[in-house]
Amino acid sequence: MGKIETKKTIMTIIDGKEVAAALRKQIADEVAEMVRAGKRAPHLVAILVGTDGASQTYVGHKEKCCGECGFRSTVLRLPEETSEEELLAHIDRLNADEEVDGFIVQLPLPRHISEQKVIEAIDPRKDVDGFHPINVGRMNSGLPAFVSATPDGILSLLRYYGIETAGRHCVVIGRSNIVGRPVANLLSQKGWDCTVTLCHSRTRDLKQVAASADILIAALGKAEFVTADMVKPGAVVIDVGITRLPSDKTKSGWRLVGDVKYDEVAPKCSFITPVPGGVGPMTIISLMQNTLKAARHEIYPR
Ligand code: NAP
Repeated sequence: MGKIETKKTIMTIIDGKEVAAALRKQIADEVAEMVRAGKRAPHLVAILVGTDGASQTYVGHKEKCCGECGFRSTVLRLPEETSEEELLAHIDRLNADEEVDGFIVQLPLPRHISEQKVIEAIDPRKDVDGFHPINVGRMNSGLPAFVSATPDGILSLLRYYGIETAGRHCVVIGRSNIVGRPVANLLSQKGWDCTVTLCHSRTRDLKQVAASADILIAALGKAEFVTADMVKPGAVVIDVGITRLPSDKTKSGWRLVGDVKYDEVAPKCSFITPVPGGVGPMTIISLMQNTLKAARHEIYPR
């Protein structure tokens, strides 16, 4: 973890790659122990419908990470023209398959398939993405649940760096169901004990609200939106945003930026996540942790 001394404060760059590597090793050790004890390795299945480039890349990363954790991994590649009925039949089969601990359906789906119907068809006990309303409802009620990967990854970073949350004011910008809303809910629960303000596009005086945060979580998907005047000195800043901007300085022709104007904000912070290399690497690890929990029936005991 890189500590950089600035004029006013010591700032730590939160190294998501380092945390992800440590957690991956922990998972791999636990899986090796399971296998030594005669149990089978956790098995994650990913369903990929169509040929969307980004989805193929994500599924490829998930497959690789499964290998590193000692999991069995299967990718079910279905053609773009797969009907909703056919996809639901695959889900039924995976729900019933005792050799499958967890599965995900890579989103987005082709437009002729209802994502909500598909999510609700997944057995909550195998819903390692944590998108099923039963898991969302249980999480909101503080019950054991599969928590979706990005909010869970953010909590892991806070935990790993020993960041104090109790009684601190956390401002979350963005209220999506996959990031802003769940992370706001979780941080307000007992154990984390933040006082949370959840902001969105209709929030008034956003600059002032953001500048009152001890912990600021930017999850709105607007490149470099959070500027230095929106950040309290010594705040913890978690940047969830990922936007691709064209660049003539990289081989690929684009660069990744977050929702935070890093260069001017970082010197004011006590902790900050960079983009890339902050929240991003944690997402797959949380999926692996959920799969291990599913294999052990930790959330839904048999
Ligand atoms: P989303 O579904 O588009 O939601 C964006 C949220 O931000 C909405 O609640 C929206 O408010 C709010 N918002 C938009 N403009 C705003 C503004 N000017 N001021 C205040 N609030 C504003 O986005 P998402 O899926 O949560 O993703 C957010 C970002 O995180 C994206 O860049 C995405 O790529 C990234 N992401 C990263 C990871 C990772 O692993 N690192 C994972 C998931 C997402 P309204 O509700 O009022 O419209």
